[in-house]
Amino acid sequence: MDEILVHESRIAVPYAWSAGEVLSRFLKALRDERKILATRCPSCRKAYVPPRKTCGNCFEACGEWLEVGPRGTLLSFTQALYDSPAHPRPSPIYGLIRLEGADTALAHLVGESKLENLRLGMSVEAVFSESRSGSILDILHFRPAS
Ligand SMILES: [Zn+2]
Repeated sequence: MDEILVHESRIAVPYAWSAGEVLSRFLKALRDERKILATRCPSCRKAYVPPRKTCGNCFEACGEWLEVGPRGTLLSFTQALYDSPAHPRPSPIYGLIRLEGADTALAHLVGESKLENLRLGMSVEAVFSESRSGSILDILHFRPAS
């Protein structure tokens, strides 16, 4: 068989991603009101954040909206010690935060603390960015609550 040559290259693919009805409402509340919203299932009462349109447990429509947080409990955390253009900041600490009033965890950045000072189960609070654009990063990060 003859040798098959492969040439590697990169392509840029511009795209637009629709946040949809439910996530748009969530992101607009972050941007315009500094509020974190969840949706609740009318059947099992589970409160989801980020909000879901349909309950993952019982497939009911989650039509009830509620405000959760801005405080929560740090359920898990880790630090990424490698460079990546996907990271919003160098050596980010990522955490799973269960906000007060929510039943699910939100994955987000943890800041204003060194890794060694974080503890599972500690109380954290959302810090909102001064310039907000309708992105999950309108929450700058979560920090240990005072
Ligand atoms: Zn449910």
